[in-house]
Amino acid sequence: MTQNNTIESLRDKIAELNDELLKLLKERGHLVEELDELKRKSGRPAYDPVRESEMLERLLKQGSAPYQPTQLQRIFKSIFDASKEIQDEKRKKVLLVSRKTKAEDTHIDVNGTVIGDGTPVMMFGPCAVESYEQVDQVGKLLSEKGEKFIRGGALKPRTSPYDFQGLGEEGLKILQDVGKKYNLNTISEIVDTRQVEMAAEYLDVFQVGARNSQNFELLKEIGKTNKPVLFKRGMSTNISEYIHAAEYIAANGNNNIILCERGIRTFEKETRNTLDISAVPILKRQTHLPVIVDITHSTGRKDIMGDIAKAALAVGADGLMCEVHPNPSIALSDAAQQLDFNEFEALYKIIR
Ligand code: PEP
Ligand code: MN
Repeated sequence: MTQNNTIESLRDKIAELNDELLKLLKERGHLVEELDELKRKSGRPAYDPVRESEMLERLLKQGSAPYQPTQLQRIFKSIFDASKEIQDEKRKKVLLVSRKTKAEDTHIDVNGTVIGDGTPVMMFGPCAVESYEQVDQVGKLLSEKGEKFIRGGALKPRTSPYDFQGLGEEGLKILQDVGKKYNLNTISEIVDTRQVEMAAEYLDVFQVGARNSQNFELLKEIGKTNKPVLFKRGMSTNISEYIHAAEYIAANGNNNIILCERGIRTFEKETRNTLDISAVPILKRQTHLPVIVDITHSTGRKDIMGDIAKAALAVGADGLMCEVHPNPSIALSDAAQQLDFNEFEALYKIIR
């Protein structure tokens, strides 16, 4: 009986000490937060390994019995690590586009057509708007298929200033007219902050191209609208940089962001770019945004576009972008990679 009481009372004491330790640990944690705040303000890093070993040394000097020095070291090391985790968590700003901020998939409603709800959307159209007749033929084809989008560049970011630069506002008007005629949502690229207001009149979806993936001023300006934006990954932008660039749009208030993997630059020459297929599931895991794959600019090769389309859909892409032209051989841009209507039919059979 007496021994039982002793066990009980010892256990009670240990439990009280646990409570005491917890109280001290919490107090310590709050001090760590306060300290980190000061460090952050003065631009100092959270972790200071020299300071950590000094603290351990100071503790061990006081003797460790009944623990082994290594045991004591382990106990304190785990306290230090936990503190570091508190600091890391505080310093790591959780992005608005992150899955951590919003667990559910974002669905983007473009005049009744939803992107990101599990049904892939197709965005076809010529590389560039060249004439009303050209876009009209594509529009007719797409509407016959029951498609909901048409793309076409009017403000083209061309490699050479001597190449066709696009029809500008006139091209956007053509796209809009055709879109209205066939009940198709229009998508076209803008390349400058000064175009946002003007282009918004003609477009259902803004496109930001690979060359402007880190044009933060443009992203901020588009972020101030609430128009859906097809936001392409830059050709040398890594996934983290891409996600942070998308955050510029979201941070300015526009959450209607559709990500688009369009291939990155590597040493490989067999394709125009190297499609980073892993980016699709990674972007879908790390963000809540829909992700589509541009099978035209990523490959630059008609012969593998069908296979790439299947791969993209298999890894969970929410849609595809692909260039189609009534007569690619006379196209004013990307002549080699745009599908003619027969090639379109063949691809369409594969993907729909
Ligand atoms: C485009 O889609 O018209 C285009 C120029 O693509 P990217 O920005 O991916 O090169
Ligand atoms: Mn193109």
